[in-house]
Amino acid sequence: MTNDRPMAGSIPLTFVEPRTIPTYATDHPALDSFGRRIDYMRISLTDRCNMRCVYCMPAVGMQFAPRPELLTNDELLLVIRAAAAAGFRKLRLTGGEPTLRQDLVELIRAMKAIPGIEHIAMTTNALRLRRQAKALKEAGLDRVNVSIDSLDPLKFRQMTRGGNLEEVWAGITAADEVGLHPIKLNAVIVRGMNDDEVVALAELTTRHRWEFRFIEVMPLTGVAGLAEDGVVSSAELIARIEAHFGPLLPYGQDPADPARRYRIPGAPGKLGFISAVTDPFCATCNRMRLTADGRLHLCLLRDDEVDLRAAIRNGASQDDVEQIIRHAVQLKPWGHGLPEGILPTLRGMSELGG
Ligand code: SAM
Ligand code: SF4
Repeated sequence: MTNDRPMAGSIPLTFVEPRTIPTYATDHPALDSFGRRIDYMRISLTDRCNMRCVYCMPAVGMQFAPRPELLTNDELLLVIRAAAAAGFRKLRLTGGEPTLRQDLVELIRAMKAIPGIEHIAMTTNALRLRRQAKALKEAGLDRVNVSIDSLDPLKFRQMTRGGNLEEVWAGITAADEVGLHPIKLNAVIVRGMNDDEVVALAELTTRHRWEFRFIEVMPLTGVAGLAEDGVVSSAELIARIEAHFGPLLPYGQDPADPARRYRIPGAPGKLGFISAVTDPFCATCNRMRLTADGRLHLCLLRDDEVDLRAAIRNGASQDDVEQIIRHAVQLKPWGHGLPEGILPTLRGMSELGG
């Protein structure tokens, strides 16, 4: 089964008219209908990117949202103020490539000043991080995750369709120097591409305090064919790493963290395994996603969305938006349907931010 095709042009949405939804109490954090506390918003600042990773975007046929469709800075800050009022405490800036967003430093400064927002992280390919790290840290960014799928410059260029590994290392070094800690590095492992590097990637944690996270490739629109044959399960990765380093030591699990964490005995860094496909973590899900075009995407691997942009452009106040966000939290599905063969079809990972 495959759903490879260019990004969908029109997305069916739930448009929630503020007057038609129940009134939610505003004096407590948002719990979804399964009792999960939802306090983490992943914000796609743009669907554009300066790389074209094979597991994220198709080689041809990408369509990007026209600029007027993206939330403006004012609209974005309105959403975050409303989300903070609804109990969201942690933000992650992602994309596309978040460092391509104009006024990123000013945006972060404004986000960090919003009462209730306690923590801001960013996931980046780091191509622009060398020059930006210091200003981002000073503006209030707390930490970064950097994607790095290979230690071989040629393979890295192939997997990212053009990325420069040297620039990425320079970005990681800059982030380290300015204290964007703890630094986490992400690799999506694709069979036949970079699965032969798993031990070398894990070995980085024996020399650095970083957390290295291995991510199972997910079947998002545009790359589902790759995911079909390319998934290397976390169990297989752990077995390969243990064959080299000996048994891994489990490392304090944070229930809100999708990564199952381990340590190579004696290593200063940690290993994380994110197994959305073979061992989902839906029971402890604490997150919602905001797309660059202003939709709340309720589960990464499902198509359900609630349109905030339309509400805002129809005059919704911050209180209205808070109520819509609280309502969207109630609509959040329990989990994804991959085991039943239900694949997301409407958006690619570069629109959703991982
Ligand atoms: N451009 C930034 C980056 O690459 O770090 C942020 C956006 S990217 C979409 C966010 C995360 O999603 C990255 O860690 C990336 O490796 C991951 N990702 C992209 N496509 C994926 C897929 N099909 N399955 C699993 N993870 C994926
Ligand atoms: Fe760009 Fe990140 Fe997607 Fe790679 S994973 S194409 S860097 S958005």
